[in-house]
Amino acid sequence: MPIPELYARPELTISFEFFPPKTDEAEASLFREVVPALQQFGPGFISVTYGAGGGTRDRTLRMVHRLQCDFGIESMAHLTCVGSTRTMLASVLDQAAALGIRNILALRGDPPRGQATFQAVEGGFSHAIDLIRFVKSWGCFHIGAAGYPEGHAECPDKYLDWDRTAAKVEAGAEFLITQLFYDVNDFLEFTDYLRHRRGVTVPIVPGILPFLSAEQIHRFTSLCGARLPPELRRRIDAHAHDDEAVRRIGVEVCTEMCRRLLDEGVPGFHIYCLNRVPSAAEILHNLGLMKPMGLGTNPSMTA
Ligand SMILES: Cc1cc2nc3c(=O)[nH]c(=O)nc-3n(C[C@H](O)[C@H](O)[C@H](O)COP(=O)(O)OP(=O)(O)OC[C@H]3O[C@@H](n4cnc5c(N)ncnc54)[C@H](O)[C@@H]3O)c2cc1C
Repeated sequence: MPIPELYARPELTISFEFFPPKTDEAEASLFREVVPALQQFGPGFISVTYGAGGGTRDRTLRMVHRLQCDFGIESMAHLTCVGSTRTMLASVLDQAAALGIRNILALRGDPPRGQATFQAVEGGFSHAIDLIRFVKSWGCFHIGAAGYPEGHAECPDKYLDWDRTAAKVEAGAEFLITQLFYDVNDFLEFTDYLRHRRGVTVPIVPGILPFLSAEQIHRFTSLCGARLPPELRRRIDAHAHDDEAVRRIGVEVCTEMCRRLLDEGVPGFHIYCLNRVPSAAEILHNLGLMKPMGLGTNPSMTA
């Protein structure tokens, strides 16, 4: 079922995000162990990220295709403008269409390492909105876009960034998935602004990141400009040398956030599972959403 239709169901849609592993061996083990384990939770879909500069292009498309064909899981390929001309992007989209991929998360991408600001290549795109229009012109893809509950790091004014998010929806994005955040109030203010000030009606799905270590979450938040609330930062730093303790804090914090988000009626959770099972499984278990359905079925998950 295409992603906009998943979100139109009354059930909560759980989705997981993978990144393409660096080696064939790691990819094989992801499909052998992680995918079947996560499939038991009846994900609505799984998305696969797109590496900087298109370096993972083949792997991203191959993984999405395999998730759909071998596991029967609806899937989505991320696509960015980084280092790509329109011709190069057109070839990725042609390839995706030929593989039967139906969902694209259209992103600008971050500036490549060593570049302080994003610069479009000649013949390429400067903003995600341009890519959204481009993907839409194929006529065969459902399109998602990114949203930033604290505003995008490069934008000095979060309301201006949210106006640009609304423009992405007007251009054709059919759902929004957010950057990670750890203060639910940020998400609620973001959705309230889009819904009531900008008339956005498409699903707005919180991105949930159960972090795995102190070093990792400090790196992620500084890269994407998200804030760690002071109390959470203190808790993490107090266990900085104990990854398992920090992982458990991540599960606890994400569980609490998801409980509140459920009360607010979110259409789903997009879990940045970092190609791992335990934290995602524990969160879903804590929320009472863990309903193993057996492999090979096409389960849907109810809240
Ligand atoms: C759910 C999710 C998945 C992601 N997956 C990937 C991935 O697979 N691969 C990857 O490399 N990165 C990924 N990212 C990171 C993303 O590429 C970066 O956050 C990037 O910096 C911005 O991408 P965007 O699509 O939001 O860009 P845009 O919407 O283009 O926004 C980027 C900046 O430009 C500004 N802007 C937008 N339009 C205009 C305009 N018309 N004029 C002036 N300024 C404008 C915005 O305010 C913002 O500051 C993901 C992020 C999210 C939230």
